[in-house]
Amino acid sequence: MTIAQPRHLLDGSHRRMFIGGAWVEAASGQIMETRNPATGVVIATVPRAGKKDIERAVAAARNAFDGPWSRFKPHERQKLLLKIADLFERHWEEICVSDTTDMGLPIARARGNANRVLGMLRYYAGMATALHGQTVENSLSGDIVSYTRKEPVGVVGAIIPWNAPTAASVWKIGPALATGCTVVLKPSEEAPLTPLLIAELMAEAGVPDGVVNIVTGTGAEAGAPLAEHMGVDKIVFTGSTATGQSIVRASAGNLKRVSLELGGKSPVIVCADADLERAVPVAAMSVFANSGQICIAGSRLFVARSIHDEFVARLAAYAGALRIGNGIDPETEIGPLISPRQLQRVEGYLRAGSEEGARLVAGGTRLSDGALAAGNFVAPTVFAGVSDTMRIAREEIFGPVISALPFDTLDEVVRRANDTPYGLAAGVFTRDLATAHQLSRRLQAGSVWVNTYHAIDPAMPFGGYKMSGYGREGGAEHLDEYLNTKGVFIRID
Ligand code: NAD
Repeated sequence: MTIAQPRHLLDGSHRRMFIGGAWVEAASGQIMETRNPATGVVIATVPRAGKKDIERAVAAARNAFDGPWSRFKPHERQKLLLKIADLFERHWEEICVSDTTDMGLPIARARGNANRVLGMLRYYAGMATALHGQTVENSLSGDIVSYTRKEPVGVVGAIIPWNAPTAASVWKIGPALATGCTVVLKPSEEAPLTPLLIAELMAEAGVPDGVVNIVTGTGAEAGAPLAEHMGVDKIVFTGSTATGQSIVRASAGNLKRVSLELGGKSPVIVCADADLERAVPVAAMSVFANSGQICIAGSRLFVARSIHDEFVARLAAYAGALRIGNGIDPETEIGPLISPRQLQRVEGYLRAGSEEGARLVAGGTRLSDGALAAGNFVAPTVFAGVSDTMRIAREEIFGPVISALPFDTLDEVVRRANDTPYGLAAGVFTRDLATAHQLSRRLQAGSVWVNTYHAIDPAMPFGGYKMSGYGREGGAEHLDEYLNTKGVFIRID
């Protein structure tokens, strides 16, 4: 029986999770709290799912995959995605308030993501009718006609982090709907509310029962059983590199397919000829946006030695002028970190930077004046005099902390920029076309941005090199992650 979900109130009331088209509690009856990171106030409780709930969700997803959903034609899936996009557009403010309240994203930034998220849904809608195999001239026999078919992989387990619940949910569910897969999505325990709202909108759009299931719970209790479940055909994961490694191990049981969007320590290279008016704010916000809780944060800032001191001074002034506070205020540019735990982690790096000899030129402390005391706020921080071996230059901080490092030659900066286990993104600021092309070619990163940053496009592939993961989201390659290729051979003589 379908039990209705109470309205998305964010006032401390209880919300249920979504399995097989019904709003349900955890089999254990356990619940967990989610808090507003700007105020520390509990804004909702949700079920704390375990293995039994994952079993139930995977069974619902399998039934849906084998049932009516498999008979949906591409144009019907396209229509559904377009309807979902329209509903998202109509409810966009509600989605933004949910993200701001549950994970601290400043509302102005949340509102500004509309094009990207709606663009993703409409891109997948377009792709739903563009999937096709190929006819292949048989290389050995003229008596055999051969062609390939693209078929949905089946039940997809999606596990997402807390830093971008809306975009991450759409990036996982959109291609599943386009290709005809079904999904069990486990949001982060730190920010589970927007994915539940998204499930409501998808149900309203007419997504059949069991096609999209949202199971709330912790990584150990709900994420791990999903990753190892023998009935799951593929896991798409976004999160830390350490969790990604445990997911690869968990996938071994049935050798399910895995794609991983993991951590980063991305370099931004500012050449001596760069347009500083543009480079300073873009380099700053490459890290400070979302309080540094972005996988692509350009946290290693390599600046040509001849402009280094001027650049760092401008960057420090920019950091000092940012408006910090509760993200629900439209004037806020920098919100809180997600949790007291993340705050402690970032404070640990602030101490490590100073202890290892870096020079603090902006920020460097927790902010606890007045209303900020109740939340997890850290001042946008700039360290100069950083060396490549310091922890702040090597480890992903996931907080608003930039390390400035001077460089002398392009060969040197390429070597140093690539000297990291990660390879998610890189930024370059230069007016010289040859330098732009050379660095784009030589930097080991899944995305390279020149004279811009954060430019993510639904039509472009996004993903990592090295320990930043494998598989791509966005672009035609994204759909292939959700498809199997079958070869068909027909003897015609
Ligand atoms: P995390 O790895 O701790 O958690 C991510 C998700 O995995 C959560 O839903 C969590 O509950 C779940 N999880 C935890 N342990 C698990 C386990 N053993 N098995 C299965 N699931 C488990 O990451 P986080 O702290 O929520 O997010 C921050 C990290 O995510 C950063 O490293 C960041 O770089 C990365 N990230 C990457 C991208 C990208 O696109 N590359 C985007 C956003 C965030």
